[in-house]
Amino acid sequence: MKLIPDSAVRPSYSRRVDFVGDRLNADYSLSCLQCGAQMSIAAQQFIERWWGKWEKDFNSEEVAALLENFDVSTTSGKSHDGGLPVFLRAACQACQADHIVYAGVQETSTSYYAVWVHGVAMAIA
Ligand SMILES: [Zn+2]
Repeated sequence: MKLIPDSAVRPSYSRRVDFVGDRLNADYSLSCLQCGAQMSIAAQQFIERWWGKWEKDFNSEEVAALLENFDVSTTSGKSHDGGLPVFLRAACQACQADHIVYAGVQETSTSYYAVWVHGVAMAIA
């Protein structure tokens, strides 16, 4: 899997939080890196795939490529905000281009979450 990163959304240790709450009724919006069409991802998906559940959506080679491309430490396993990384796959409705969104998720108190979106890339098989 080859990743073409969106230079506008890069991992940062000082990024402001994108979503907070116990149930996230919000969407993360992005523009398709191939055709520019608007895409949106339900923010709740980041929480649903937290704690390693996202790994089911990728093979082990892809998992390694994601961690490397988005500069996630395999030693600490932590996302840039200090939480745990989540990677989501999303296809553009207009041109079907495959995209990856990298977020860090923390449970800041019981069942209350904070989500930082650290990276977006287009994935080419
Ligand atoms: Zn597209």
